[in-house]
Amino acid sequence: MKKTVSSENQNLSLWEDAPLAIPALGTSRLNWSYSRREAVDHCLRRYFYQYYASCSPDVSLREQVKRPKEIKNHHLRVGELVHLAISTYFKKLKQGKDLPSSWLQSWVRKIFAEDQAYSKLIRSGGPSSTEKYPPTILDEVVFDVADGDQILEQASEQLGAAIQTFFTSNALQEFRVLGAKPHSLIEHKMSLAGYKAPVSGKIDLVVHEEISATIVDWKLGVASDGGAESLQLASYGLWANAKYALPAEQIRIAKAHLADGSALDFKANSGSFANARARIQQDLERMTILHTYGQAGMIDVFTPSPHLKMCRLCPFRRICPEGEENHA
Ligand code: SF4
Repeated sequence: MKKTVSSENQNLSLWEDAPLAIPALGTSRLNWSYSRREAVDHCLRRYFYQYYASCSPDVSLREQVKRPKEIKNHHLRVGELVHLAISTYFKKLKQGKDLPSSWLQSWVRKIFAEDQAYSKLIRSGGPSSTEKYPPTILDEVVFDVADGDQILEQASEQLGAAIQTFFTSNALQEFRVLGAKPHSLIEHKMSLAGYKAPVSGKIDLVVHEEISATIVDWKLGVASDGGAESLQLASYGLWANAKYALPAEQIRIAKAHLADGSALDFKANSGSFANARARIQQDLERMTILHTYGQAGMIDVFTPSPHLKMCRLCPFRRICPEGEENHA
C-alpha cells in the first residue's frame, strides 16, 4: 500500500514493505573475488572481521582486529611463496635470466625463515616492522600453536619440494614451455564486466594463441575432483571467453598440482560457464544485502559458524568469543 509522504520528511519510504534505510558507519567497497565469496561461505562472523570491522561503532573491536588481519597460516603463506617463485622464474626468464630451481628454493625458504623470526619478535612484544614490504606474521608462531616448529619445518620442506616438482615433473613440462613464451601473461589481474559490483581475480598463467587459450592454475595440493575450485576456474574461463572472443571449447583450463606433479583439466564448456555466471550473480545478491549491514557495523547480523577445522585456521579465533571452544 502506498504511503503519504509528508513535506517535513521527504526521506520516508514510499512503500510499506520497503526496507528501512540503514545508515552506514563506514565505507567499505563491495567486490566479488573467489577468496571473498569463500569467506562468506565459511563463516559470516569471520567475513565481518575481515571486511567490515572498520565500520564497527566499537572502538576496541576496531583495534582488536588490526593484528589478526595481518596474520597468515602456513598453508596460505607457502602457497603465496610458491606462486612468487614461479612467477619470478617466468618473468626473469623472459628477460634472459634463467634462475635455477636451487636458487629459487633457497630464496623463498629464506623469506619464510624471515617470516618466522619476525613472528617470534611480534610474539614477544617487539615492534612492528616499518618496511614497505614487512615479513609476514605467521599464525603458528604468534599463537604458539602446539608442534608449531615442526609444522613450519615441514612447510619449509614442502615449499622447496613444490618448486622442485615444478621444474622436474614431465606432466608440467608443457606449462613450463607455455609460461616461457614472450606473450604469456603471468599473475594476470582479470576482471569481469556486467555485474552489479566489480568481479576480479588473478590468473597464474594464461597464453593466448590464434584460436585457443590455455589457462594454468598452480595448486599446492594433490589432484582431486576439484569441485570446490570449479567456480574459480570457470571465472577465469569467462574472462578468456570475453577477452579473446573464444568459445568455451577452445579454452583449456588446467590445474597443475605441485605436490605430485600431475596436471588435470577442468572441463570448460558453455554449461559450466553459464553455471559460473549464475553463481557469481547469486553470490553478489547475498553479498549486497550483507554489505548494507556490514557498512552499518551490525556485527550480530553476521552469525558465527564455529567449526573445529575453520576456527583452528581462523586468525580471529582469539578475539571471537563464539569460536572460543575451538581455539587450538
Ligand atoms: S573463530 Fe570460528 S566462529 Fe569465530 S570468526 Fe573464526 S571461524 Fe568464525
